[in-house]
Amino acid sequence: MKNQARVLVIGGGAIGVSVAYHLAKYGWKDVVLVEKHELTSGSTWMAAGNCSFYHSNYYCTQVNMKSIELYQKLEAETGQSAGWHTTGSIRTADNPDRMDELGYYYSMNRCLGLDVRRVTPAEIATLHPLMNVEGLLGGLYWPDDGDVDPSSITLAMSIGAKKLGAEINTRTRVTGIDRKPNGEWVVHTDKGDITCEVVVNAAGLWAPEVARMVGLEIPSIAIEHTHILFEAIDAVKDRKTPLPLVRDPDRSIYIRQEMDSLILGMYEKKGKQWHPHGVPWDYAQTELPPDIDNIAENIEHGIFRMPILGETGFKHVTAGPITYTPNGDPLVGPAYPLKNFFHACGYSFGITQAGGIGHYIAGWIMEGEPEIDLWSVDSRRYGSYATWAYNHEKIADTYPRLYSIFFPNEFRSAARPNRTSPIYEYQKQAGAVFGDYFGWECPNFFTAAEADRCEKPSWRRSNAFPHVAEECRHVMTHVGLLDLTRFAKTRISGPGAEAWLNRMSCQRVPTQAGRIALAPMLTDRGLFKTDMTVTKLADQDYLCVTASLGKRHDQHWLMLNLPGDGSVRMEDLTYAQGCLVIAGPKSRDLLAAVAYGDVSNAAFPFSTSRELYVGRTKCRVNRMNYVGELGYEIFHPIQQQIAVYEALAAAGKKFDLRMFGMHAMDSMRLEKGYLAWKSEMNLHHTPLETHLDWTVKWDKDFIGKAALEAQKRAGVKQKLVCMVVDAQTSDPWGYNPIFQGEKRVGMTSSGGFGHRVGKSIAFGYVPPQLAAPGTQLEVEVLGEKRQAAVAAMPLYDPKNERMKG
Ligand SMILES: Cc1cc2nc3c(=O)[nH]c(=O)nc-3n(C[C@H](O)[C@H](O)[C@H](O)COP(=O)(O)OP(=O)(O)OC[C@H]3O[C@@H](n4cnc5c(N)ncnc54)[C@H](O)[C@@H]3O)c2cc1C
Repeated sequence: MKNQARVLVIGGGAIGVSVAYHLAKYGWKDVVLVEKHELTSGSTWMAAGNCSFYHSNYYCTQVNMKSIELYQKLEAETGQSAGWHTTGSIRTADNPDRMDELGYYYSMNRCLGLDVRRVTPAEIATLHPLMNVEGLLGGLYWPDDGDVDPSSITLAMSIGAKKLGAEINTRTRVTGIDRKPNGEWVVHTDKGDITCEVVVNAAGLWAPEVARMVGLEIPSIAIEHTHILFEAIDAVKDRKTPLPLVRDPDRSIYIRQEMDSLILGMYEKKGKQWHPHGVPWDYAQTELPPDIDNIAENIEHGIFRMPILGETGFKHVTAGPITYTPNGDPLVGPAYPLKNFFHACGYSFGITQAGGIGHYIAGWIMEGEPEIDLWSVDSRRYGSYATWAYNHEKIADTYPRLYSIFFPNEFRSAARPNRTSPIYEYQKQAGAVFGDYFGWECPNFFTAAEADRCEKPSWRRSNAFPHVAEECRHVMTHVGLLDLTRFAKTRISGPGAEAWLNRMSCQRVPTQAGRIALAPMLTDRGLFKTDMTVTKLADQDYLCVTASLGKRHDQHWLMLNLPGDGSVRMEDLTYAQGCLVIAGPKSRDLLAAVAYGDVSNAAFPFSTSRELYVGRTKCRVNRMNYVGELGYEIFHPIQQQIAVYEALAAAGKKFDLRMFGMHAMDSMRLEKGYLAWKSEMNLHHTPLETHLDWTVKWDKDFIGKAALEAQKRAGVKQKLVCMVVDAQTSDPWGYNPIFQGEKRVGMTSSGGFGHRVGKSIAFGYVPPQLAAPGTQLEVEVLGEKRQAAVAAMPLYDPKNERMKG
């Protein structure tokens, strides 16, 4: 075994082997993989092997596409078959909400050019003659889906990896990991130490233990998962063509052909955790005793959908451990706050995704960024709130509902609340309906109506709609208060701070204390990494504010780029400071009533920042907001939030101050043409493709400049547009295909209803020749095409008279 390698992969399941194979394939041949037992010893060996294009996320669908592409050519590359069968698959719906969800997938898959078809119950019965289609309203059919043999794909990729120069050591267990002062990792195994530059944690069921070796806690837990192979069925044996896999998510089951019979798979009624405090190191390739009581209902559902199963005995019941994270998606990418340590774990659909994610992680390690935006699976989407105990509670809710309808506006109540603002009780009293964002409870909207105290999740306009409309109207005419305590806040200071921030952002950071700048940060390829609001507090002292969700992601990026000479200091103020926003035409009058100091337009102009006493509390007040009205962001010591709030509330009575929530904020930011991180600003967009090109300061050096210069010379291939959509009951949510006639010309990045302008709005990227206001396009919403007219951005107050007035 080598004692030195560039990359060390821990774990010889489908995921780890795929990472090693792809690294070697793309030229990083100095790769060592260690596996404590034999390859596939964790979950991989017992997986059913279903491989589908389906995923609720646009980018993860591309991961699945890459896997399927690879599995079909692995034999030619390695001489080992992956056992791929093209069978097609059907996903059914037995209620209107499910039909809406399928409508969303249909449209989103069309953005990717996938062959996906809407099918009626009669067509489903033709595609799968053994199926009882009673109660179905319809479904989606992917003719190119299939299945593989999980051990064969792993073996094939390991053969490929070794041929390409990677070293694979089985029966070698990692027992500890240390970091050398020069940044290299020393990985201790029971066969000796290996020094390496990069470590990949692909330890599957044991990934939390491996993470613990470097001081990290990751939310991944093992759950018992079952599928049943039935005895041979003549009606299956006699078939000339394979039966498509059927997923009946409303019954939490799937059924697929396996040789001359069928497999019934399920998400059990109760997600039973297996060794919740850590899977024993010596567990390998052993099935668990099945819990028939826990699957009895699923079996009944299977027999209902496929009556022939009622006449067929079980051949074998497979129960085994599978990893689960709080939302069921894996934990991938750079491990916060470490350097050169990657996660590739937490997989519950790891066979479907192994081939693809190996490709993308290899690129991520080699290039520093993934080829596609993998934020939805990035391990940094969870913060310190996502402890083992949090996951323990969350999984009990998530696992049995894994097949339940995916809604964009659903905020499940399990394992909440976690983080609350000090004014949480006031928010509750005001009728807040909360959502959770990076562990924070944040009001989505407010209502006095008892019946609406919970938002009914829907792909259409929900019961929140009239309340949000009222909040937007109130902010437009009076003054509203929004709690943005959850903002990620980072103080950057030191003699090197200004020069360093100017290198990190394409924007020039303010030179004058009390000025604010919108400061996008880009990757080397000129793509949006993040977007900060940078306030100069004093000489050598800056406050950088970003989205709460991006906290770990953004701070990790800053940390990894800090100069080594100590000239720049970084301090996390997220939990030390709260932020209350007041916005609306009466906000200045309100501030004047509570603040000690002149807050007139002349004394406190737009885009400036001041220290002000708000009541008794010294606050940092920024005249800036994300809703496009006259307004102020009031940053304050978190322990004084109630004092700040009570001062505002008392003075606010005169101005009819009311709280508003996240839904209203999102509606208003669309009207104002404000972009959202990971929607309009992700790893597929540059500032030149948006109306933020003014933030690019060409007369200085910054990360991504060379790429932007090249793009400027070549011309942009896509442009961000705002469209007014003829939507009726459902607004675009993002990932909707945009058409000109029959031709797909782009995709939406986000959308919703703008209550102040009374229009359904979508943002999206289209070729520049279609970006002129007035261009008539169509946006497909839940499978139906809607007229969409490109409009000048922003729709609301284009001259910024309200904000600057
Ligand atoms: C019953 C069942 C059915 C399933 N069906 C499907 C399906 O149809 N489709 C699908 O996509 N997915 C399915 N899955 C899920 C799938 O099996 C997993 O998502 C996938 O196998 C995860 O692969 P992995 O490489 O991440 O982890 P694992 O397969 O668990 O591999 C991790 C490896 O790391 C090794 N390791 C751990 N710690 C160390 C250490 N310290 N040193 C060295 N080596 C170490 C382990 O021995 C193990 O071999 C199913 C799972 C089960 C249990």
